[in-house]
Amino acid sequence: MKIAIIGNPGAKSRRVTAELTEKLLASGHELVQTSPELVISVGGDGTLLNSFHRYSHILDQVRFVGVHTGHLGFYTDWRDFEIEDLVIALKEDSGQSVSYPLLDVRAIYADATSAHYLALNEATLKRLNGTMRTEVYIKGDFFESFRGDGLCVSTPTGSTAYSKSNGGAVIHPRLDALQITEIASINNRVFRTLSSPIITAPDEWVTLEPTGRDDYVMTVDQFVINPPTIKQIRYKIAKERIHFARYRHMHFWDRVEDAFIGAKH
Ligand code: NAP
Ligand code: MN
Repeated sequence: MKIAIIGNPGAKSRRVTAELTEKLLASGHELVQTSPELVISVGGDGTLLNSFHRYSHILDQVRFVGVHTGHLGFYTDWRDFEIEDLVIALKEDSGQSVSYPLLDVRAIYADATSAHYLALNEATLKRLNGTMRTEVYIKGDFFESFRGDGLCVSTPTGSTAYSKSNGGAVIHPRLDALQITEIASINNRVFRTLSSPIITAPDEWVTLEPTGRDDYVMTVDQFVINPPTIKQIRYKIAKERIHFARYRHMHFWDRVEDAFIGAKH
């Protein structure tokens, strides 16, 4: 198999990458940078996000595997001491995979240029230098006028990341849904937002039309974008999905329990 290994700069990740490289070559795999069939990410969930963005143009050809050098993550099924088991699983590979929804973001700017992004976790729109104001449309219909720090649109697998910090629900990744959460909305007699997270249906999209400022910040997963004046940003479930090689199954809710609740008292 043609395999790419993407590690982070940490000492532990470098050690695991070296071990993995040696074992994969010994069992006849080819290590490549371009056009891999399998991408093994070594680090944390953040490293998997980096790996995803590096290969997001060939998502239909590649499967991902995450090795975590710390605690178990949401995109990482393997721990650093299980390299041997992973290499054996790869030897017995029969192409098994599981796929999850992604977020498609299209921004149209006042100067008529546009930009397009795919997110694995979420995209946000924020204003740091004062209150963000934006009109919010769902499926083209006006929904609310938002004022506050920002809005976050997340995928089901992103629901345990930033979205959760905003009070969002944890969503099972088998659902094709997007969740919109508020970041510090202003609510008083003059300004009113729904003030609770929204989960949209598979055929719906959300549009933001910020009012007249040029100092908004967009984030897409770990990336920060300083866009020109925004006319409109549209968020929908992407046609593309991310595929993970699934050599063993871990229940989603077990993972949630492990990450956020921990051992029983
Ligand atoms: P980071 O600052 O290292 O990430 C913050 C934490 O989020 C890390 O512990 C990371 O795990 C974890 N994480 C990432 N994706 C997750 C997921 N799908 N479910 C549960 N936890 C997840 O930065 P990063 O590693 O580059 O990750 C970027 C992400 O950070 C963004 O996509 C956003 O979701 C999140 N973020 C959160 C907040 C917040 O909660 N207030 C603010 C900004 C960004 P690892 O340690 O395994 O990498
Ligand atoms: Mn991280």
